[in-house]
Amino acid sequence: KPIIQVENVSKVYGNGTKALKEVSFSIKAGERVGILGASGSGKTTLFRLLNGSLLPTSGRVSVLGQDLAELSHRQLRQLRTRISLVYQNYNLIPGLSVAHNVYMGRLGSISPWQVMRSLGWLTVREREEIQAVLASVGLANKLEVKASELSGGQQQRVAIARTILARPEIILADEPIASVDVHTAHLLLNIFKELNEKQGITLVCNLHQVDFALTYCQRLLVLQKGQLIYDGPPEAFPGPG
Ligand code: ADP
Ligand code: ADP
Repeated sequence: KPIIQVENVSKVYGNGTKALKEVSFSIKAGERVGILGASGSGKTTLFRLLNGSLLPTSGRVSVLGQDLAELSHRQLRQLRTRISLVYQNYNLIPGLSVAHNVYMGRLGSISPWQVMRSLGWLTVREREEIQAVLASVGLANKLEVKASELSGGQQQRVAIARTILARPEIILADEPIASVDVHTAHLLLNIFKELNEKQGITLVCNLHQVDFALTYCQRLLVLQKGQLIYDGPPEAFPGPG
């Protein structure tokens, strides 16, 4: 039974742009999938359809057995506690400490204001747990540091620590390595790979760079001008163009 199912999905924006055209695929639990495509090919649109922040113009998107178009606001929020979103620009709250940013993983998708109200104090146990997760991404000594004081690569590692703490069933990542250097990119994709292999978390990751997708993914979905032009293992991928 698929964990993600996309059936004949098209997306036309208000200005007439056809961002996705009749796209269909399904993903089973535990897969590690890379979505590849040039800028403007529809990757971000697909990411937003999969996380329910955008609805398809036609077709159906089901995640964890639920048709996203049929969910109420509350049901969607509930579903999102089982999914972790990773963005190109990290989506940390700059004024909050690293520990607090990581702890947000536990709280699901709620507003920064709610987080600040609920976070006043962390228990000793919570701090230990956060410390352990941060150590696993190489940031053990950064608990108290403000997120805004970290480098881009460090910020993305905080974002991933937040994801680990949230224990999601699915990680959806939208170009997570687009703003970091090559060394950090490998480090981050290795963390994703480990989460996938050791904890069985399904990974769906938008990537711009072909070489990374070939190295880290078991399956590629390739978009070109809104159409799915390849769905298969990296070994058989004929290459860009
Ligand atoms: P919809 O009707 O689906 O809401 P709109 O055309 O109204 O879509 O655009 C929604 C938002 O996206 C607007 O803020 C718009 O400025 C922005 N936007 C428009 N064109 C583009 C584009 N080519 N790439 C990214 N964002 C865009
Ligand atoms: P990618 O993530 O692969 O760069 P996108 O999904 O952002 O691709 O964009 C796909 C197409 O849809 C592009 O032509 C883009 O300009 C257009 N587009 C994206 N967002 C909007 C929007 N909100 N309104 C209108 N057009 C958009």
